[in-house]
Amino acid sequence: MHLLNADLHSHSNVSDGTLSPEDLAQRAQERGVELWALTDHDELGGQRRAREAALDLGMGYLTGVEISVSFLHQTVHIVGLGFDADDEALQAGLAATRGGRLQRAHEMAAGLAKVGIHGAFEGALRYVGNPDLISRTHFARFLVEAGHCPDTHSVFRRYLTEGLPGYVPTRWATLRDAVGWITEAGGIAVIAHPGRYRFTPTEEYALFTEFIGHGGRGVEVMTGSHSAAEHIRYADTAIEFGLLASRGSDFHSPTESRTDLGALPDLPGRLTPVWQALAARVHGNVG
Ligand code: AMP
Ligand code: MN
Ligand code: MN
Ligand code: MN
Repeated sequence: MHLLNADLHSHSNVSDGTLSPEDLAQRAQERGVELWALTDHDELGGQRRAREAALDLGMGYLTGVEISVSFLHQTVHIVGLGFDADDEALQAGLAATRGGRLQRAHEMAAGLAKVGIHGAFEGALRYVGNPDLISRTHFARFLVEAGHCPDTHSVFRRYLTEGLPGYVPTRWATLRDAVGWITEAGGIAVIAHPGRYRFTPTEEYALFTEFIGHGGRGVEVMTGSHSAAEHIRYADTAIEFGLLASRGSDFHSPTESRTDLGALPDLPGRLTPVWQALAARVHGNVG
């Protein structure tokens, strides 16, 4: 059986990616993606453009979003797929979730100024495509440009994670709300890149059981953030919890992302792909 090349996690310059939705669609198509989802952070502003570009290129399209959630003192990302992008409760929930970003960015800049890095707010803003969605990634790009670090990953390591000068703790959406918004809008909620979180086994178990309790149905198994060992580990987790499995590069930029669109290994055959359950929600044709 032909395994579909689905890439259901990627970012445009409507959040913290560097390419427009149209250029991203083009790149996905050139790299063999047959079913694509743009999953900008906390924002649906690119959905219509992404869908139209995908359909023009002959790719299938699923609506997508990646919602920032606070769970047990960490930030967890929940990907939503196949929902109705016009759903008003989802739109209102996302607007509330991204609401604190501007104030947070000013506080991040103040923290960086204390360690001698000046003008970071204005600097980060020059990288922002959507003024509603200023993110740590934009600060990272400015700090690289200003010569403080050689690449964005080292900016996160030195300045932008918990306990460091540019880090501002933020209260995002609740797990219950994020899963509810997606599900009630007709979509499927998916735990993004579970291998990235720093949970104890007990906390991780709580994340999965509460997520399922709220109606969550999927987990990202193949993602650009997972090691080969984590691909296997979270395939087992998907089976253990009876979850649908997703696959997505989490592509942000040609120069910053190590995994390109469509380039991940296929999902292991023992898993049920999330796109099987979303067949009726796919725009256009696949395969
Ligand atoms: P924010 O939503 O503003 O907190 O920014 C989170 C974004 O920062 C994520 O979606 C990633 O794109 C990026 N990010 C987080 N950690 C790292 C890291 N260690 N290296 C590079 N980018 C990162
Ligand atoms: Mn991002
Ligand atoms: Mn993420
Ligand atoms: Mn992402």
